[in-house]
Amino acid sequence: MSDSLTRGIETLRAQMDNRVMSYLSSCVHCGICAEACLFYTETGDARYTPIYKTEPMRKLWRQEYTFWGKLAGSLGLHSKITEADLADWEELVYDGCTMCSRCSMVCPLGIDIAYIIRKVKEGLAAAGYSPPDLVEAGNRALEIGSPMGVTLTTLQATIRAQEKETGLAVPLDVNDADYLCLLSSGEIAGFPEFIGSLAKIFKAAGVSWTISSDYFEATNTGVQLGNSKLAATLIERIVAAAEKLQVKYVISPECGHAYTTLRWDAPNIIGRPLPFRVVHIMELLDELHRDGRLKIQGITDARLSYHDPCNASRRGGVLEQPRNLLKLVAPNFVELPETGAMNWCCGGGGGVSSNERADPLRLKVFSAKKRQLDAVLPTGLVTACSNCRHMLEDGLEDNEMQDIELLGITELIADHLAGEHG
Ligand code: SF4
Ligand code: SF4
Repeated sequence: MSDSLTRGIETLRAQMDNRVMSYLSSCVHCGICAEACLFYTETGDARYTPIYKTEPMRKLWRQEYTFWGKLAGSLGLHSKITEADLADWEELVYDGCTMCSRCSMVCPLGIDIAYIIRKVKEGLAAAGYSPPDLVEAGNRALEIGSPMGVTLTTLQATIRAQEKETGLAVPLDVNDADYLCLLSSGEIAGFPEFIGSLAKIFKAAGVSWTISSDYFEATNTGVQLGNSKLAATLIERIVAAAEKLQVKYVISPECGHAYTTLRWDAPNIIGRPLPFRVVHIMELLDELHRDGRLKIQGITDARLSYHDPCNASRRGGVLEQPRNLLKLVAPNFVELPETGAMNWCCGGGGGVSSNERADPLRLKVFSAKKRQLDAVLPTGLVTACSNCRHMLEDGLEDNEMQDIELLGITELIADHLAGEHG
């Protein structure tokens, strides 16, 4: 057995916690989860069914934790996990799964299938079976501090441009600010107006905030890759930046998995509680409005719909806040079918859009989103995740649907601020 295969199997074995074992022993093979997965529904390929993606873990569990598996092993009858298995499952779990958790929502036994797939990724990553693009993104995150290679110099130039645009200061390294705001590289590079929008909203609402020059990245490539060590290192950088500036809260920006990772998973990943509270930007904006600090004027006639980012909405529970905000400015707001916690993934989450070889597959499964859009024909689609926004741009273009305008919710709210910053 090669060293890499041994490493992969040992890592899978180490990931076999009580939750995984109880999940694997509970599955009744009903197949209900298959119909919830866009990679299966849009391709019809049985290899993309959620439960099949857990097979390496299931195989190990059968061999080492079940009576019949142990008996077969003692007789030399069971089929061992091989390099070929790992190579096959690399494509299935990295290219053919966005970790959207839609499958986990429908399992009648309450099995969190995405949780098991995350564990499978750990084993594959340890064995060296991860997409090269994602591995490189992880290296850039570690060495440069951003999976896209966005440096502090780039951020500073972006901040200067937004300050010029808005006439407002964007605070950097302010000690004792209430809120430390993280940014995703996708936002800095693709939607820099998000930073100017924050400056306008926070100025109008009197929010004390800052960005840290020590560490500003929200994206956690360690989670996407299935590398807990890298995930922990990136979380520790946020903790160090927040502790240095003595902030009370850390804002997760418009990025789905960044929120779920920091808000819900981080204490388990680093093994201790976080010394600050985590809020998604939608939660904060909604709270500011409820407190009367965020005043809105004007409406748009556009027929807007909302694309729920899987991790913020389904796994993170940020469902009501974006809708509360949208309804302030868009009276013609229309829900997509199968929305909210059961929304269909854009197809690019969980690191899929950072993995170039998966491009044809992610564009193919965009047909699920297209069906939702065709059902209500919005003139604009709003979301709260820069990664979703990039994928939606690609999907709309690929389907010649560019007449649907794509909008970020923070910018939409900033454009409707009452008073001098509106
Ligand atoms: S997490 Fe989403 S993409 Fe992955 S198997 Fe489940 S439904 Fe499919
Ligand atoms: S829905 Fe649940 S019980 Fe049914 S096959 Fe999927 S994981 Fe197993």
